[in-house]
Amino acid sequence: MRSKNHYLENKKVARKIILEYLHFFAALYKVKFRKVAIRNQRSKWGSCSKAKNLNFNYKVAFLPNDQRDYVVVHELCHLIEFNHSKKFWAEVARTIPNYKEIRKKVKSTSLR
Ligand SMILES: [Zn+2]
Repeated sequence: MRSKNHYLENKKVARKIILEYLHFFAALYKVKFRKVAIRNQRSKWGSCSKAKNLNFNYKVAFLPNDQRDYVVVHELCHLIEFNHSKKFWAEVARTIPNYKEIRKKVKSTSLR
């Protein structure tokens, strides 16, 4: 149960870090979100609901900066475009022009 302990020990600090970047990018995009949940999922880095609630894996806080920013921006852009359309990616590219390359790195990072 090492990973569960790691989660419990780091959840608070992860939330603080993730919220800091969320607020920064939310101000840039001029979007508002509702609740933020920090979880320890096995398969997801983050998600966004239609009710504007955001959900992040606590491990996002410990990713390299560019990857952390990408995950945060990705979920925030779903508050503008609730899909993965060209418009959605154009929003992501406003702050992360090289998102394609960063996205690959995030996808290849195991959550297990
Ligand atoms: Zn998405």
